Amino acid sequence: MSIIDKALKANQTYARKYDRKLGDRPTPKIVVVTCMDPRLSDLPGILGLPQADLDVIRTGGPAVTEDVLGELVVSTRVLGTTEIMLLNHTGCGFTTFTDEELNAKLSASTGDSSPAPMRFFSYKDPEENTRQQIKKVRAHPWIAKEVPVRGFIFDVETGLIREVALAKDAAA
Ligand SMILES: [Zn+2]
Repeated sequence: MSIIDKALKANQTYARKYDRKLGDRPTPKIVVVTCMDPRLSDLPGILGLPQADLDVIRTGGPAVTEDVLGELVVSTRVLGTTEIMLLNHTGCGFTTFTDEELNAKLSASTGDSSPAPMRFFSYKDPEENTRQQIKKVRAHPWIAKEVPVRGFIFDVETGLIREVALAKDAAA
């Protein structure tokens, strides 16, 4: 049985015990942008916050794309979150290749280069990536100035997160 078929079966059991209150309009308090990496999936555990308080946006990296910016605007302006947390991590798969390398590799292995150059948002340094994200989000005119935008790195070896400060000359 495929994993999806197993999941469909398990869902029937889940639905039998489902708390219908969970279907009420969500009222998340904080929005977290984090990587698609499964090690970042236990956000209630990592952050000690109830699942219902967390609005989670996930991309590879995480990359703060135009789509992510749109989602942050909706999260803060429509859903009502009041803080933005950008959560990077050590050992990210997106640091293990460059966009150029992956485009070349996939073009060769599939024999089809028509999607290239695809944007994968690979990067090298999580600290620098975090600083760029903070600047990008902070600069968006539809993200209210009173909403804090803070960046962090989750250490996959220790489970600890640490804050990334913007360089002094870049602090606004
Ligand atoms: Zn990652």
